[in-house]
Amino acid sequence: MQIVKTIQELRPIIQGWRKEGLSVGLVPTMGYLHDGHKSLIVKAVGENDRVVVSDFVNPTQFGVNEDLSTYPRDLERDAAVCKEAGAALVFHPEPEEMYFPDSCTFVDMDSLTKGLCGKARPTHFRGVCTVVSKLFHIVAPDRAYFGQKDAQQLAVIRRMVRDLDFGITIVGCPIVREADGLAMSSRNAYLNEEERKAAIILHESLALGEKMLEDGERDGAKIREAILGSLDREPLAKVDYVEVVDAETLEPVEDIHRPILAALAVYIGKTRLIDNFTFDAFK
Ligand code: AMP
Repeated sequence: MQIVKTIQELRPIIQGWRKEGLSVGLVPTMGYLHDGHKSLIVKAVGENDRVVVSDFVNPTQFGVNEDLSTYPRDLERDAAVCKEAGAALVFHPEPEEMYFPDSCTFVDMDSLTKGLCGKARPTHFRGVCTVVSKLFHIVAPDRAYFGQKDAQQLAVIRRMVRDLDFGITIVGCPIVREADGLAMSSRNAYLNEEERKAAIILHESLALGEKMLEDGERDGAKIREAILGSLDREPLAKVDYVEVVDAETLEPVEDIHRPILAALAVYIGKTRLIDNFTFDAFK
């Protein structure tokens, strides 16, 4: 497995694969890889001849007061995970490689990005769309893999690929969880012991909402209230948002009769965690 830091080095390698008629999969990540990331890589390896994992903490998707400088990084460990999962190449550029100092072109989106995480992070999805567009141009993969853990991101990327005719198949992958239900995240590393225990409340509260849907509840407000009520019982949890939205448009839903996404962002101490579930099992 190769580790490549520049676009100039990367392009001929991919062109070489293309000449051989090989298919290429891309797994974009910000590194500090865990089993959630690994599941994406393993799936990509199963569906493509060569898999590129990008490992880049993208500065443009962080807001000014967010955790860009403290975001955990460990290239050596990431490389071992990628190798074990069967990736052919890790692309690990420095920010200067990805952005010119006077870079002034961005990819932005009018809908889908205003609610949910976009409310508290108004520039986040512009950064995501821009970096993912760049990676798509640099790697030109057949398929790209994204986790349902970041459900809004997945919906945004699907829409961007559709609207801008990228011609890349976007593959969504299920959320991988710790044994107690906490969704795996690089940011879980920020949690102290007490916070780690408290963080289970995200999944527990969502599970409550999911059970209500399974039992036939179709009132979005009631499900939202139940999830909020459950989160309220955990003193370390501070809610950013809980929303029940249409799975495709991401618009809030009252009367549930189409696939929905129930999503939340909650601070546990200073750490902002997200989780969600989708429901489409209508009888
Ligand atoms: P990140 O490094 O956090 O930007 O994540 C890179 C990719 O891995 C994104 O597509 C995420 O949705 C996905 N991912 C992160 N955590 C998980 C998880 N627990 N389960 C599945 N996919 C995940």
